[in-house]
Amino acid sequence: MIIVFKSNASEEQKKRVENYLTNHGFEFHPIQGEEYTVYGIIGDTKRLLPEDFKVFEGVSNAFRILESYKLCSRTFHPRNTKVKIGNVTIGGNEIAVIAGPCSIENEEMIHTISKDIIKRGANLIRGGAFKPRSSPYAFQGLGEEGLKYLYEAGEETGSPVVSEIMAIKDIPLFEKYVDVIQVGARNMQNFALLKELAHVNKPLLLKRGLSATIDEWLNSAEYLASKGNKKIILCERGIRTFEQSTRFTLDLSSIPVVKKKSHLPIIVDPSHPMGQRDLVIPMARAAIAAGADGIMVEVHNNPEKALSDGPQSLLPKQFSGLMKEIEIIASAIGKTIAKN
Ligand code: PEP
Ligand code: MN
Repeated sequence: MIIVFKSNASEEQKKRVENYLTNHGFEFHPIQGEEYTVYGIIGDTKRLLPEDFKVFEGVSNAFRILESYKLCSRTFHPRNTKVKIGNVTIGGNEIAVIAGPCSIENEEMIHTISKDIIKRGANLIRGGAFKPRSSPYAFQGLGEEGLKYLYEAGEETGSPVVSEIMAIKDIPLFEKYVDVIQVGARNMQNFALLKELAHVNKPLLLKRGLSATIDEWLNSAEYLASKGNKKIILCERGIRTFEQSTRFTLDLSSIPVVKKKSHLPIIVDPSHPMGQRDLVIPMARAAIAAGADGIMVEVHNNPEKALSDGPQSLLPKQFSGLMKEIEIIASAIGKTIAKN
């Protein structure tokens, strides 16, 4: 339920509504707009009627939020949420670029690649230390050692770092070493993990599940928001369809749909759905044109030898080419690429 106060509503009038809500056992979230104040009420609001609030002095309107995700819906929070990470703000007019290898393979490579991509314009560094591999025999990541190398690469370049978490027990490590915690596609509906991450005071990058609908994805974001973590960035990474030419089908239509349904920022990972490096750049360009708030691409200095996802990793020179192209696309739609 949403309660909209008149622009001249007094504190006393708001207090009366607050008391009514508290006495009936409801939590409320005040959202202060430039011209009006809105209270979002969560809980079992079926017991409440919008009419009950319209009689309060100072209230101009009250209506139900029909979506199952409340805090993440645009009805609840009409303005775009902006997530600040270091010098970059995701969800505003700037486009953020996250780049780096699929996996952190050793200390030297993450330092070399990090310095290189930051020089070429990336804003944040990515690298996996706990890898969700389809085969148990494939490289599983360096674990804590990898996170440490990533942290040091972030320190050396002065850039925030992003890495994927797979298990609740690792949360303290991620709190220590990373700036943004990534929830991978395979864990989008790991509700136990989401509930724990909801209490962590770090931005969260929530990837879309391999076969999740947009509403299921937004409900997962709601798990995070409902316990207080509002610093959520969604990441479209492709879904399973009948099409076999690419690893997944990159659903760029989710960008305008998410923008309509939710106030959360959305970025796109064109690497994992395309699976081959020559296909990544066109889709990265398309993502920006479709309104994405950023991209996350895999880059490797020696992809032939990469321990995971070499075929889809861009060469550093290709990454520079991509940066130039998205600069042009961004300016055509009134945006800029974030600067470090
Ligand atoms: C990744 O970003 O390294 C990754 C494994 O992605 P996804 O969860 O989208 O498959
Ligand atoms: Mn990968």
